[in-house]
Amino acid sequence: MAADAERRRRFTLFIVMTSGPNDGSSPDRVLVIHAHPDDEVFATAAATIALAGQGGQIFLRVATGGEAGLLAAYHGDVVRARAARAAQLTRSCGLLGISDWDYLAGAGRWIDTGSEGVGTLAGEDPAVLAAAVRACIDRIEPMMVLTVDRVGLTGHPDHIAMHNAVRSALALPGWLPHEAWGALLLGRHIAAAHALAKAVVPHRPVGSGRVQGRADDAVERVMTCSREDAHRRRAALDEYTPGLGTFPHHDLAQRLDRFGDSLLLRFAMDASDWHTDRFERIHIGDEDQPSR
Ligand SMILES: [Zn+2]
Repeated sequence: MAADAERRRRFTLFIVMTSGPNDGSSPDRVLVIHAHPDDEVFATAAATIALAGQGGQIFLRVATGGEAGLLAAYHGDVVRARAARAAQLTRSCGLLGISDWDYLAGAGRWIDTGSEGVGTLAGEDPAVLAAAVRACIDRIEPMMVLTVDRVGLTGHPDHIAMHNAVRSALALPGWLPHEAWGALLLGRHIAAAHALAKAVVPHRPVGSGRVQGRADDAVERVMTCSREDAHRRRAALDEYTPGLGTFPHHDLAQRLDRFGDSLLLRFAMDASDWHTDRFERIHIGDEDQPSR
């Protein structure tokens, strides 16, 4: 009985504390933490558009410069690749309601090599990464923290490292936000994306093969922007890869030169919608940890 009462109390507290984005009150300061530039488009764009529209002040911190995607274009020059990504990220933030972005711990502290290894997030000591996130939370003092879910949205090792770092940071002493959420994809939307990919680009495999998605019952929170505002998410995607957000399907095969997880996620949003983000709860401080 006592345990039931306690559970009810916590649940009531949870409802009170998560008031905000859908009830018209201001969510105040929101900190979004991601591994790479462009994760803010795929993982949390609907949420940041909605929260900013309700008066929230949205801060984004990225751990790496997302250098990998542009290294070839800049002949392996990491600094120039990072600068070009930063310009894309600035334009993306302008579209998605993010008023302030910076690197989690300075430019070049971690880099995106396109694989695991020295200098990457996945290759970092988890305690070092968690301490960097902890310091960032203490500096910004957000009411809400957003990142990716436990499987790293797409299974990317850097994304998983980022999720683990946020979860660990929230268990360390310091500023406690009221709520923290990890963005997830649904397995049935990924299956629909593969079916769409097969129809649209029949002669090319699409995606890395590591994007699985979660079961429907993993969703504990949904954040939506208006359908009209979802075009901003497509435009933000175009900032990184022209046309990836907006080309009609029949142009994608001819006009894109990469057929990775970014394209798979475009198909996943086409197969579901562009104005919804889904989240699992990340527990804060000494709250009960989920048993699964
Ligand atoms: Zn990423």
